[in-house]
Amino acid sequence: MKRTLIDTHAHMLNASYKEELTNRIEQAQKEVKLLLNISWDIKTSYEVISLNKKYPFMKPVVGIHPSHAHEDFDKINELDSLITKDVLAVGEIGLDYYHSVEHVELQKKVFEQQIQIAQKHNLPIIVHTRNSLEDAWVIIKKHPEQKFLLHSWSGNEELTKEYLTHKNIYFSFTGVLTFKNAEETRKAFLIIPKERILSETDCPWLAPVPHRGKENIPQYVSYVNEKMAELWNISIAEADKLLENNFTTFFNEKK
Ligand SMILES: [Zn+2]
Repeated sequence: MKRTLIDTHAHMLNASYKEELTNRIEQAQKEVKLLLNISWDIKTSYEVISLNKKYPFMKPVVGIHPSHAHEDFDKINELDSLITKDVLAVGEIGLDYYHSVEHVELQKKVFEQQIQIAQKHNLPIIVHTRNSLEDAWVIIKKHPEQKFLLHSWSGNEELTKEYLTHKNIYFSFTGVLTFKNAEETRKAFLIIPKERILSETDCPWLAPVPHRGKENIPQYVSYVNEKMAELWNISIAEADKLLENNFTTFFNEKK
């Protein structure tokens, strides 16, 4: 039986695919039912929307990544006006203190402004946090009704418990879950109710074992689902089904 796979976080516009992009898309389409094509600035936000017209299985997610906040902070209104009915979520937005702490206040402001835009359009949000889970929580908990998907979750058990108090937060996990040294991530994974988990690749990065260190592609989400099935002690078919249901619930059956 053919598996139903959904990759909730793929960067198909990443430069590493460039010449191979059409190939990569066509290969992914054979194995993946849907993928969320994640932009990171205004330019790529337009591009994910136009790619979706040619490839309907690649759902557009638009927004300004915190590492680009200092470049596109003056284009928030443009983000608001480029959103079409095909857009599935606002993302990836949030705070990133790993790449730079130079623009922390600006990152926070741009994060808040984009939360407002998501609320105006009644869209869920895909959140990126890196070395910033405490500060991101301060902002997120101010919006208890908003749906947030915490992408590539890396919180420890304590932070995971804190985030779990927000009723509309889901967590997504990447191939990191398959890494030998990711014991903390697996512990956090296991304290989250199964119904609040999604799977993703974050391709072209974070390829799961047995492809670790190589280029990642959307169909490798299969390995993430398999790891989840193992950790949950259920069959792969059950895990695929559960993850598909969670996707449908989180995104309001908007497909
Ligand atoms: Zn990403």
